[in-house]
Amino acid sequence: MRIANIDARAVLLDEAGRGLDIAAASDGEFGPSIHGLYGRWDEFAAWARARRRAVGPGAYRDIDLGRALPPSPTPAQVFAVGLNYADHAGESGVEPPAEPAVFTKFATCLTGADARVVLPAGTVDWEVELVVVIGRRARDVDEADAWDHVAGLTIGQDLSERTLQHTGPMPQFSLAKSYEGFGPMGPVLVTPDEFPDPDDLAIGCRLNGEAVQKSRTKHMIFPVPVLIAKLSAVTTLLPGDVIFSGTPSGVGAAQNPPRFLGPDDTLVSFVEGVGVMTQTFERA
Ligand code: ZN
Repeated sequence: MRIANIDARAVLLDEAGRGLDIAAASDGEFGPSIHGLYGRWDEFAAWARARRRAVGPGAYRDIDLGRALPPSPTPAQVFAVGLNYADHAGESGVEPPAEPAVFTKFATCLTGADARVVLPAGTVDWEVELVVVIGRRARDVDEADAWDHVAGLTIGQDLSERTLQHTGPMPQFSLAKSYEGFGPMGPVLVTPDEFPDPDDLAIGCRLNGEAVQKSRTKHMIFPVPVLIAKLSAVTTLLPGDVIFSGTPSGVGAAQNPPRFLGPDDTLVSFVEGVGVMTQTFERA
């Protein structure tokens, strides 16, 4: 199942990418906001499966995914994981961590998949990431059960202002990665059952057409089930919570010379089986 957040309404997609308004199709039982679906995810998923079997293609209409808002626009918690690919740890000049390096992106930085991002002063870098949205309350979850707690996967960019990130006595990960528009995600949420193997997906991004990041999610040091087990051993994950799962090598700060985003750049990010999202930039 693929769902999207169009005009702040939850939409169910068909194979052709057309959309069905979930509130209208369910007579108001589900929706209209996408956030409300996560609190009743199992019920909603059962309804959506039955609905898709029952209706013909005529019930779906053309939609513009370029206008998609975040698949989880108002999560209670946003987790992000640093240095979760060994090649990115290497290019950052640090040892791969023995435990996940967890921080947050504050939720107001989340924005739609194809949003235009205003660049603050400093050095703004790209980090393509697989993003997980939680569909079931998770507390002390075993790795083997972790995927059952996931509503779906989407594409994210953990945009990062490196100057602030590395200024001061402590790294400012959370703040430097939470400027307005620094958490683009989308355009669609894809349920784990849609992937032949949700633990092994091609991921990458292109800057002005040039491939700058390219990897597979199987190279994560802490794969999604491990992240959910480790996070839920400490804190309770809530439906709609978002996990940015880390970036592979190829960020701008690691290039020689370092390279950062400018106002004329176009950044296209992809995750296999989800699609692409595109960011453009302007100066403040
Ligand atoms: Zn990141």
